[in-house]
Amino acid sequence: MTFSDDNLSASRSIVFVALGSNLDDPVLHVQRALREIDELPETALMKISSLYETVPEGLEDQPPFVNAVAQVATTLSPHDVLARLHAIEAQHGRLRNTENEVRNGPRTLDLDILIFDELQISARGLTIPHPRMHERAFVLVPLVEIAPDVVVPGKGIAKQLLAALDTAGVALLKYEEQ
Ligand code: ADP
Ligand code: MG
Repeated sequence: MTFSDDNLSASRSIVFVALGSNLDDPVLHVQRALREIDELPETALMKISSLYETVPEGLEDQPPFVNAVAQVATTLSPHDVLARLHAIEAQHGRLRNTENEVRNGPRTLDLDILIFDELQISARGLTIPHPRMHERAFVLVPLVEIAPDVVVPGKGIAKQLLAALDTAGVALLKYEEQ
């Protein structure tokens, strides 16, 4: 895909966002979400990983996930980025806080902030770095593809964190760009 050419000021932040989907047409949800992130105000997509098909963790009796990671430049605040990502999830038909949504269960689109510059935030509703990212191969495999040396604040260097994990459940996905 081609990226938008927003002119961002020098005070931009570098953010890594994880994308995941395992309902309807997961590849399409992830591809559309990437475009929608690129179209956000004050925000530009810099890099995207390949798409990966991954075995669900936690709740195993559900379809495989499609996962990817994007590197984004933005001048929005962390809370504004989270609000924008939640709005994109909602546009994809994701229901929150209902009996339809099970923890670690199937979802049309999950967008998580992994890393936001060197920030460490522990607020209600927003923890950065994402608290479980360092133990998830489906997050670290695509992250290491695009940014092997990025520091996960408080945790370590992405490629070293990945080296400690079993990656058997994460496979590169072949797909047509849509
Ligand atoms: P998960 O992504 O862990 O499977 P959800 O997507 O349902 O679960 O997220 C649950 C809540 O996690 C969201 O309402 C959001 O406010 C909160 N949250 C905390 N930190 C983050 C983060 N770094 N990125 C995205 N959501 C976060
Ligand atoms: Mg989430």
